[in-house]
Amino acid sequence: LDAPLFADLAGDAAVSFEFFPPKTAKMEETLWGAIETLAPLAPQFVSVTYGAGGSTRERTHATVARIARETDIPAAAHLTCVGASKGEILDVAREYWEAGVRHIVALRGDPAEAGMPYASHPEGFRNAADLVAGLRTVAPFEISVAAYPENHPDSADEQADIDNLKAKIDAGAHRAITQFFFSPEAFFRFRDRAAAAGIEAEIVPGILPVSNVAQTRKFAGLCGAAIPPWMDRLFEGLDAHPAARQLVAATVSAEMCRRLYAGGVRHFHFYTLNRAELAYAICHLLGKRPVPVAARETVAA
Ligand code: FAD
Repeated sequence: LDAPLFADLAGDAAVSFEFFPPKTAKMEETLWGAIETLAPLAPQFVSVTYGAGGSTRERTHATVARIARETDIPAAAHLTCVGASKGEILDVAREYWEAGVRHIVALRGDPAEAGMPYASHPEGFRNAADLVAGLRTVAPFEISVAAYPENHPDSADEQADIDNLKAKIDAGAHRAITQFFFSPEAFFRFRDRAAAAGIEAEIVPGILPVSNVAQTRKFAGLCGAAIPPWMDRLFEGLDAHPAARQLVAATVSAEMCRRLYAGGVRHFHFYTLNRAELAYAICHLLGKRPVPVAARETVAA
């Protein structure tokens, strides 16, 4: 790829950040530290995940509502179909709208027990496309949905996965955010297939800066993302060198973002795991610089 050097990157890409709702006061402090560090980069939005089976319903709500109340960053709430009726889920959505939250990341969610086939609640939404259609009846939310450059494990084949994404966009979603991946080529192929299927909505790559390969492999196994062998080689022997591991992690992710940028990507969504420094370093390499407070509202608008 004829990719620009980091020195040539203009900082013209949008960024967004994903957090998870904190469980303890200490974790809450870490999360707010991360938000304070990343806010000056004027993210397009930040999003807060919804624990498996709806286990974080209150915590997700409290976190998103606090971001909406105390910062000028547009906040998005993740919402899944798991373990609740349609009515209950739409009530949660209504509460978000009343709290000033205008953006939902609409997901099906995973079975409560890992490895079991997914079964929807008897009175619930069947899948994410169904949920998107339901949300449209509540309020004119901005809606993001999930996409899988390396296929969702439940999909029959690549085409079924693209058809499913198209169903979500046709139901009213505005953008897709991808599962993490480590092959820019896989992302580009997926983007081409989506375009060929008539999907015009923005497809935003989800970037996971990895500094712990073993932990990432465990998670990747569950969600169908591949960890390439070169990743193991890069982190080999670094267990006792946490600072070096962070530097390698930033380098690997920034290089991937640089190649995605060269391929036309202008919005990157970072899985922060509530840690700001790696995402901040990568954004810096992409040319992002702090935006003065007065100018941030214009960027968000
Ligand atoms: P869907 O788009 O509904 O579909 C998933 C798969 O099922 C697709 O392969 C599709 O082809 C198949 N399928 C759907 N409907 C049918 C049907 N009627 N018949 C046959 N096959 C069908 N999980 C959480 O619990 N909380 C979160 O906060 C969260 N955030 C996420 C954020 C992002 C950006 C991403 C990429 C994933 C996130 N997930 C989260 C994980 C997500 O819930 C799982 O990947 C889940 O297994 C699928 O959700 P989905 O919305 O993609 O499902």
